[in-house]
Amino acid sequence: MSKLIDGKALAATIKEEIAQEVQEMQSQGLKTPHLAAVLVGNNPASEAYVGNKVRSCEKVGFKSTLIRKENSITQGELMDVIKDLNENPDIDGFIVQLPLPEHIDEHAVTLAIDYKKDVDGFHPINIGRMAQGLDSYLPATPFGILQMLDRYNIETSGKHCVVIGRSNIVGTPMSILMSRKAKVGNATVTLTHSRTRDLEAEVKRADIIIAAIGIPFFVTSNMVKEGAVIIDVGINRVEDSSRKRGYRLAGDVNLDDVLDKVSYITPVPGGVGPMTVVSLLKNTLRAAKGEIEF
Ligand code: NAD
Repeated sequence: MSKLIDGKALAATIKEEIAQEVQEMQSQGLKTPHLAAVLVGNNPASEAYVGNKVRSCEKVGFKSTLIRKENSITQGELMDVIKDLNENPDIDGFIVQLPLPEHIDEHAVTLAIDYKKDVDGFHPINIGRMAQGLDSYLPATPFGILQMLDRYNIETSGKHCVVIGRSNIVGTPMSILMSRKAKVGNATVTLTHSRTRDLEAEVKRADIIIAAIGIPFFVTSNMVKEGAVIIDVGINRVEDSSRKRGYRLAGDVNLDDVLDKVSYITPVPGGVGPMTVVSLLKNTLRAAKGEIEF
């Protein structure tokens, strides 16, 4: 049995399920789910992420709208774009791709998004509801990880989960979700970060390691317990002269080094990344169906 968790294949399966549901909705005369994305400037990574999201929408039969704005957009102008999307009844959910230019207040932007259309799950109302165990839009990457653990029947109840990294979009929500009373949850969670003392000893206790640090090959076999499950969230560019573009993508975990020890691991690329996009689609579907009772 392969130890690799195939996020790419799982994402394709879930996309097919979503596409089928969209067809059923359409045959019942219901509205086609519609996701909008706001892209400010032309950061190449953001262009790639947004392009991928829009293509994925088309693949499952959603409507999608891409709103491009110049880097020079003012806070007020961006707020007006958000207001229009909040008020547009045809848009079920929308995202504002981060990072935003330095002169824009990201927090104010997140707050301005109607939480009922906040399919990125970044609004404090959605984060707060998640923390209280209420239904909400879950942030896409943690939501994708939950689905992977679920579909691979990886037991989390009573397990010791160590999360490395405390960002608002991955580490912190992941730590909350893994400790929730839920089908995937009920774990004892340790949230570690750059100020953690003896990180190696903390990680070595883990049955499940979730690495979201942004440092290539950070987790090595000396930090890993025999039989551990590793979810590698990191997406890092490492120099590779054998590739045409001069680099390749690597995770936060040294996969070759830990493979003998682990029971499961997500590769990079092809692990968490594809599941993140699928989760955004799932949130949009939930928005279109008005599934969450706020
Ligand atoms: P971030 O870059 O905002 O923060 C990194 C976190 O790592 C911080 O909380 C910091 O405390 C911790 N950290 C840094 N150095 C450390 C050290 N030496 N020891 C312990 N902890 C340390 O984090 P992020 O936005 O969650 O991104 C993390 C990685 O995940 C990046 O590589 C990013 O590209 C990737 N990412 C991937 C996806 C996906 O869909 N696969 C989604 C989001 C982020």
